[in-house]
Formats: sequence, C-alpha cells, structure tokens
Amino acid sequence: MRVLIVITLLALAAWWSLPWLKSHLPPQWNPFIPLDVTDPPGWITRYKLQQLKGDPQACLAVLQRASAQGLVSFREEPLPKGECTIAQPIRISKFGPVSLSSSFLASCPMAVASTMYVTRSHQLLQQSEVASPLRRIEHVGSFACRNIYHRQQGQRSEHATAEAWDITAFQLANGRWLRVAKNWQEPASESAVLHILWRNGCASFGNALGPDYNAAHASHFHLGMRGSGFCR
Ligand SMILES: [Zn+2]
Repeated sequence: MRVLIVITLLALAAWWSLPWLKSHLPPQWNPFIPLDVTDPPGWITRYKLQQLKGDPQACLAVLQRASAQGLVSFREEPLPKGECTIAQPIRISKFGPVSLSSSFLASCPMAVASTMYVTRSHQLLQQSEVASPLRRIEHVGSFACRNIYHRQQGQRSEHATAEAWDITAFQLANGRWLRVAKNWQEPASESAVLHILWRNGCASFGNALGPDYNAAHASHFHLGMRGSGFCR
C-alpha cells in the first residue's frame, strides 16, 4: 500500500512539473520540443533525428527552420527514376557560409544530419586551435544506385537511398586545405583538424568511416545514417 502511495505521488509530481520541464530543459535533454539543427549532440537529439524518418512533414519543418536561420540552402526534388529511390529527396546547394564543390541529393533526414554536421563542424573549428571556420567542402556525392563496395550481390549501400555522403576535402576560411587522402596522418596540424571533423561525424550521423577503417575509405569520410554512433 505504501509503495502504491509513493508511486502515485511521484507520478503526480512528474505531471505537475511537466510544463516547467518543457520550457526549462536544455534542447539536448528535452524530448518535448522539435529538433533544431543547432541542438548539441546527445541521445535525445539522436532519437529526435531518427524519428524524422517516419515523419516527412516534421523533417521538412526542421530544414525550413534551418534555412530561415541561414544554415542551409535546399530545394525539394522529384523522386528519381530507376531501381533505387529516395525517401523525400532534398537537393542541398550550400550550408550558410560553407560552399560545396557541387550540390548533392539527400533523403530528408540525411539533409538534416548533414546540416547539423556542417553547422557544428563550423563552430568546433572556430573554437579549436586553428580558430578558422569552414569555407568549402569537396565531396564525391551521396546518391548512387549500387550495393556496398560495388559488389554484384549483397546488401544495398546507404548511397542507394541517398543516406550517406562522401567528403574528400575541407577548406578553412583562412584558405588552408585539408585533404583526407593527403593529410589524414600528416602534417600534424592538418591531421588533428581532420580527426576533429571525422569524430564530429559520429555526433550527427549513424556512422562515420575514415581512412583507419579500411583502404576503401583512404581518400574520403563516409558519413551515413545507418547505426547509432559507429565511428571507425
Ligand atoms: Zn560512401
């Protein structure tokens, strides 16, 4: 009986404090407010991002808010023709002040993850020793109707649904270039910044694969939506 009273009192206390929690919890701990691309990483942020896969309207709303904040330029695209399809295709042309070697296609949740990744990378670099934000990203695409490692048989790649993005190089606002193929190990200063950028991939994407994973990734970071924090 006493246990029942305690449980009831706790439930009542939780119910009473709900409005306070909704407005006072920080975004990365607050499951009651919609995702914003500037939310710090955390398991609730990751949960909210995963929920967007089943909610196209909420996903588009997150991108529209990010666009209004000047963090991404995008447009909705028609479904691609052919064997492979994309859930809610989005074409991204730039991320605020960060330009791209070319625009790329993404599923809506991947578009949100990419915006979170670039926005946070931009800030991280500003706060790091290099103290220079991002200016440009070179990449080799996102959408390709193929299996993993181009094998004849087997599982479809994340690229077959535009749920992964392959980045080859970053340019900082001070003009310095960081190329995954050349600078992953040296010189030390470039290598350190590239490691920051790779590790940050795990905060927004389900997986972040780089040169240490295998030879197939010697020249680029593969940032994909599968998994929940698989970083190699
Ligand atoms: Zn890839």
